[in-house]
Amino acid sequence: MSPRTPRGASGAARRAGSGTRGANGAKPGLPRKEDPAKKRERGMSVLRTLRKEFPSAHTALRHENAFQLLVATILSAQCTDERVNMVTEDLFRKHPAPADLASVLREELEKEIRSTGFYRMKAKNVIACSSMLVERFGGKVPRNMEDLVNLPGVGRKTANVVLGQAFGITSGVVVDTHVHRLARLLGFTKEDTPEKIEADLMELFPEKDWIELGTLLILHGRKTCKARKPDCPACPVNHLCPSSAV
Ligand code: SF4
Repeated sequence: MSPRTPRGASGAARRAGSGTRGANGAKPGLPRKEDPAKKRERGMSVLRTLRKEFPSAHTALRHENAFQLLVATILSAQCTDERVNMVTEDLFRKHPAPADLASVLREELEKEIRSTGFYRMKAKNVIACSSMLVERFGGKVPRNMEDLVNLPGVGRKTANVVLGQAFGITSGVVVDTHVHRLARLLGFTKEDTPEKIEADLMELFPEKDWIELGTLLILHGRKTCKARKPDCPACPVNHLCPSSAV
């Protein structure tokens, strides 16, 4: 007998990124209506299961301090963490502190970070961000969301990464492309913008779990629930996922 065709391969990926509706009028892959308490319980079961799968979950971006994590996260847009780590190894050796990157020549920085993609915009933002840190914050990375999102090139996602991973400060849930996709596939949200998805996740999960939740969903998205081909048969949370193909 041939194995059941996984809805996951293209179906789950499509459902995560599309706003189309299924035959029953509900968004495909999501239960039409789920009791809020049951949804919360299911969410916590997903979290507990992923915790076992990734017992020492943390960002894969190599850094020695908050500033380096900030720069690495800016560089990671549309780029793999592995590539960013390759680039930052030399970059941080040559320019370890905000004052160093604030005064680097833009053309020089563009060359150094070229392989991360979108290098012109990233170089501009890294220099402007480093300059602002030097001028307004005494070369230190601020420890609050409001100041962080005012830095050039820094949005809520980057700010959440820095606050959570560098300072252990909970301010929200990191919503990158993996979290965006998985939150929808797992039926935690029906929203389609990072801000609204983050708000739904903050509502569904206890604040103490917000930092870990983002990291675990990212790791799960990279390893198993990949954008192009979610591996539902191998997924440890397939029994908890409304989009599962098995
Ligand atoms: S979370 Fe697991 S079961 Fe659900 S779509 Fe992704 S891989 Fe499939």
